[in-house]
Amino acid sequence: MTGNFCSHCGNAVSPMAAACPQCGHPVATQQATGQPIGQPIGQPLANPYAPAKSRVTAGVLGIVLGGLGIHKFYLGKTGLGVAYVLFFWTYIPAIIGLVEGIIYLTQNDQDFATKQGVRVV
Ligand SMILES: [Zn+2]
Repeated sequence: MTGNFCSHCGNAVSPMAAACPQCGHPVATQQATGQPIGQPIGQPLANPYAPAKSRVTAGVLGIVLGGLGIHKFYLGKTGLGVAYVLFFWTYIPAIIGLVEGIIYLTQNDQDFATKQGVRVV
């Protein structure tokens, strides 16, 4: 991708930026998301190199097997998953996993992708 220039002030703008950092003017980029101009600024584009995960699968795993951190392992957060396993006996991971699973299921795909650093499939 080539660089963009703000149509308002002429400042060079990163192709990833949704708006000019200089004047805040929205920049018409080659966005694949089809996000209309005027949306909240600062929404990163989906990382095409992020691992592809299913939001629903992660949510169900969190609810059913959250006590063992299976949803964390699924999302590639192995270190966190291990912590869930270590504290399994306290039942706290099960509660956190249940809540996280519900959050995943109620989140939209974009929020989930942004927070988890994945591509939603
Ligand atoms: Zn500008």
